[in-house]
Amino acid sequence: MPGAAAAARTILTRLHEVMAARTHAQAKLNQVVDIIGESLDSEVCSIYLLREGMLELFATRGLNQSAVHVTRLGVGEGLTGSIAANIETLNLDEAATHPEFQYRSETGEEKFHSFAGVPIVRRERAIGVVTVQHVEPRKYEEVEIEALQTVAMVLAELIHNAGLVDEEGLGDRSEAQSGQQVLEGMQLVKGLGYGKAVFHQPRINIEQTVAEDIEAERQRVYLAFDKMREQIDNMTGQAEFGVGGEHEQVLETYKMFAYDEGWSRRINEAIDSGLTAEAAIERVQQRTRQRMREISDPLLQDRMHDLEDLANRLIRIVSGQLGTAATTGLHGDSILIAKNLGPAELLEYDKRRLKGVVLEEGSATAHVVIVARAMGVPVIGRVRNLRGLVREGDMVLVDGDAAKVTIRPGQGVVTAFETRFARKKEREAAYAALRDVEPFTRDGERIEVMMNAGLRDDVSMLSVTGADGIGLYRTEFQFLVSATLPQRDKQTRLYRDVLEAAGDKKVIFRTVDVGGDKSLPYLSSETSAEDENPAMGWRALRLSLERDGLLKMQARALLEGAAGRELNVMFPMVSEVWEFDAAKEVFDGQLAYLKKCKHKLPSAINFGVMLEVPSLAEVLDQLLPRVSFISIGTNDLTQFLFAADRANPALAERYDWLSPSILRFLKRVVDSCAGSPVKLGVCGEMGGRRLEALALLGIGIRRLSITPAAVGPIKELVRKVDTREIGSAMKEWMAHPPECLRSALQEWAQRHGIEID
Ligand code: PEP
Ligand code: MG
Repeated sequence: MPGAAAAARTILTRLHEVMAARTHAQAKLNQVVDIIGESLDSEVCSIYLLREGMLELFATRGLNQSAVHVTRLGVGEGLTGSIAANIETLNLDEAATHPEFQYRSETGEEKFHSFAGVPIVRRERAIGVVTVQHVEPRKYEEVEIEALQTVAMVLAELIHNAGLVDEEGLGDRSEAQSGQQVLEGMQLVKGLGYGKAVFHQPRINIEQTVAEDIEAERQRVYLAFDKMREQIDNMTGQAEFGVGGEHEQVLETYKMFAYDEGWSRRINEAIDSGLTAEAAIERVQQRTRQRMREISDPLLQDRMHDLEDLANRLIRIVSGQLGTAATTGLHGDSILIAKNLGPAELLEYDKRRLKGVVLEEGSATAHVVIVARAMGVPVIGRVRNLRGLVREGDMVLVDGDAAKVTIRPGQGVVTAFETRFARKKEREAAYAALRDVEPFTRDGERIEVMMNAGLRDDVSMLSVTGADGIGLYRTEFQFLVSATLPQRDKQTRLYRDVLEAAGDKKVIFRTVDVGGDKSLPYLSSETSAEDENPAMGWRALRLSLERDGLLKMQARALLEGAAGRELNVMFPMVSEVWEFDAAKEVFDGQLAYLKKCKHKLPSAINFGVMLEVPSLAEVLDQLLPRVSFISIGTNDLTQFLFAADRANPALAERYDWLSPSILRFLKRVVDSCAGSPVKLGVCGEMGGRRLEALALLGIGIRRLSITPAAVGPIKELVRKVDTREIGSAMKEWMAHPPECLRSALQEWAQRHGIEID
């Protein structure tokens, strides 16, 4: 069997002649099935095309000719229908054993055992299916399937040019309606936005798929690659977010793909098979999409999206159909609509006019989401069939808080939205006014309200919110947005930048909490991504201690980054005291080395732990003399106390943070730390909610580290509370829990004039 390129090329050369001939479309299709059947040595080759919503047999070699234009299948019906419905390839040695198999007697196909079929795709929709069948039960070889897929691409062009399918009926608009419609998605970045729908990518039409001159096509691709790389280099050089941030690394990953030799080689191979430059890029992209569907690792999927973003850019350059909506520019407030976006593509838009982003795909860890958060743009992802339901220019309301998109909203909805938006702005302004006000309770207790951060740009929120410092800096974020393990100098640079930006305010760096669900592609063979119970697996400090080099490198980076400043280091997932000792020893070792080499050292070093594994609470007497601070991670702590996976949506609302078991547990920790100089705080999401924060103040917590957006609301709450009053109410409830502690607290808050939203 010749290689895939040669196999496809033989067919394409013959197809090219057919397509150029001045014959009727039906005659062309009849010739096409013969060419494919002969080339793939198949008794049967058939083409089904979508007509009036049904897949109709248009041409066949090997099945009964009387079935042509008679056999019709619904999309999703039988093997052919399921290929079209799922836009997937099937390759079966025994068709009849497949659950979707349906036998059509008029075709006379009973004697054929093996079956392969690929969708004919135009504008990401199946407009038909090409199938091959064979008497002998054997699977088709990969090169044959590859050839069939390439042919299907060319067929899409032939079918389109001949007007054989009703493209209007298939168009993206087919399902667009005129009334108001609410679409649900997934919250990726919170916030509200309203504007006109702008499609990120105007459709690219590939006019010609079969190459006239292969060398000329190759040249076109080379030139396009050069131009694309130049664009990416310019873009990464101009990114607005300064140097040293995570964005820089996101863009670096992107750049790495742009220069990937494997990718350009695959495109070249597709050109060898006889495709034009545009068609070759698209062919490789189709394969990428196929692979993407098979990959379940979200981080890797995000990287694949970057590649798709680049491929789109390359096609646009090569075909001269330049420009995303960013090139033409946004006119007025806009909501960007896209299947997916690359981080660099988002950066091209005018930040002042971009009011929201809605994606068909997207995930919380995608690079584009990290960039959008830094730009302050709300994002909703995973909206099914988005581009089929929205029209360019439609008014769109993005409610990132509720993960809902309203298209063509009625006047009533717009008014309600505007009121909400105005109220939100007012509230934000009121909270902003508290920026420089110290959070004292009514009875004069100073509560430390700190914020959580993870990206370099988050640090700017310190001055916006007036938070007392960063109580939890999740250093693993730098690792998560990076394609390779961040080298020591990069880590050092980040830590130094963060401390510099924080000025006099305290920053508590948590050493990397990777592993488990936060798996890193470059460590995946060693992390617990495949553990049955990743949250309880080989993660965080457990992993850092055994991958000694990882912690050593981070220790050096932190010590060097904090030269001349106070360094606060916190270890995650400490379960036993010796783990703290072992981790501190790594720092001591690095410190001794730096001393010996006469490097400038931090002015002070404090060590602390996250209390998120319940076992640690039982040995606080041993731990307290060793540490300067303890931060309770209620996100993990609750999942371990209730044995309820924090990532499982089915359990998301089952257990309440305001339950006696959690609060009694926390109270015991507070009591165990009483009288010790060790600073105790809470840094889980719980502390950022007003009612929960009230309960925490009531059991004696005096330091909170919360999401930046919650700093204002919590400061405002603190100023309304008398800790003696809530303290005695909580004491009573801890001793004799009411039926519902949440309701009891709510009533109490209401009685004391404390607003809880
Ligand atoms: C926690 O577990 O509460 C915590 C703050 O850490 P993370 O959410 O990063 O696990
Ligand atoms: Mg945690």
